[in-house]
Amino acid sequence: MNKPSQAALLSVDEALDFLLSQAHPVEAVEAALTLDALGRVLAATQVSAISVPPLDNSAMDGYAVRAADLNASGETRLAVTQRIPAGCVGSALLPQSAARIFTGAPIPPGADAVVMQEDTTQVDDIVTIQRAVPSGNNIRRAGEDIAPGNTVLQAGVRLGPQHLGLAASIGLARLPVYRKLKIATFFTGDEIVMPGQPLAPGQIYNSNRFTLNGLLRSMGFDVVDLGIVPDDLEATVGVLRSAASQADVILTSGGVSVGEEDHVKAAVERLGEIAMWRISMKPGKPLAFGRIDNASFIGLPGNPVSVFVTFCIFARPFLLRAQGVMDIAPRGFWVEAAFDWPRPDRRREYLRARRVPGEAGATRVEIYPHQGSGVLTSTVWGEGLIDVPAGATIARGERVLFLPFSELLA
Ligand code: AMP
Ligand code: MG
Repeated sequence: MNKPSQAALLSVDEALDFLLSQAHPVEAVEAALTLDALGRVLAATQVSAISVPPLDNSAMDGYAVRAADLNASGETRLAVTQRIPAGCVGSALLPQSAARIFTGAPIPPGADAVVMQEDTTQVDDIVTIQRAVPSGNNIRRAGEDIAPGNTVLQAGVRLGPQHLGLAASIGLARLPVYRKLKIATFFTGDEIVMPGQPLAPGQIYNSNRFTLNGLLRSMGFDVVDLGIVPDDLEATVGVLRSAASQADVILTSGGVSVGEEDHVKAAVERLGEIAMWRISMKPGKPLAFGRIDNASFIGLPGNPVSVFVTFCIFARPFLLRAQGVMDIAPRGFWVEAAFDWPRPDRRREYLRARRVPGEAGATRVEIYPHQGSGVLTSTVWGEGLIDVPAGATIARGERVLFLPFSELLA
């Protein structure tokens, strides 16, 4: 590991570049049932062997006709000579006749248009068509969605419902996906206790366990939660050893500052190697990255909002890349600030913010009034983060970069 300097304050981009350079995608591939592949990462590009739709077919319930048989001005009466429901194949359509046809049914040879039912009346075997339609009317062409040889899904995509639907439309019952990453996690601190237990003086509830489990599970990883670990070097070494033996990545909260109660750095160094960074960002200054045997180690800070933000900015892209995802950058957009931010900070800041309606349908963003790294309320109140460059001030009405949680948490 060629580590960046530990002395200087690293920029967010420097830290992220280094992390991503160390994220080696899993290699093992499994064949998942397409029906079970939601959230998995596609391991090979998929090319269609078929046309979708396979045949020209009707986009409407109505009548398949030869467009040339219809009177340009006025009605046309045609004999109805066949009936083609979806799933059936008709026979060739003779001139001056019509086929009763339903949505999705193949267009019979000879027909070149469908007149929708609402523009017709049928009495016995004669249909009266109110007006002419052009050739091709209401016909969905074979291959208009997908032609044989078309690439439909790229390797490295995280499969959402729409990807599964598209894969199924070309007949794929299984998809090659990367093995799920296994993430071990634990939570350091003598002061933290689990909800359900009474709080003794000096204790706080272990909120980070819930935030991190939620973040990891919503990304589809297998999580090994090793619980709370006391501020003790030997205990930390023990749990790290266990974590490294069963997981691809170890993700922890707390204990990475420089106080004498912070044992994570020394414990990782006992078993492997570690770089401790002070990152020029707020919230979340301390972050640790290292390796124990084949497991990567990411030590997040302890403050609850710092955990949330550093996960979104660093751990998430690292884990996505390690899981084989190609497109990992969250897509932000520029919106108008509905607030003033008059005091510049030397560090890049991530403010919890949400959208509010502006004038004439415009969108503006406002920020939670308390941006402290312990104020978890801001993460629930907010809908995203505003990325404030180091040293910047913001005046109401200026444009700011908004990263919605939909981009950071999915
Ligand atoms: P540390 O990085 O261990 O010094 O922790 C920084 C702050 O985060 C301290 O106020 C801790 O009490 C708090 N903290 C650490 N771990 C947790 C946790 N699991 N849940 C909630 N707060 C925590
Ligand atoms: Mg601590």
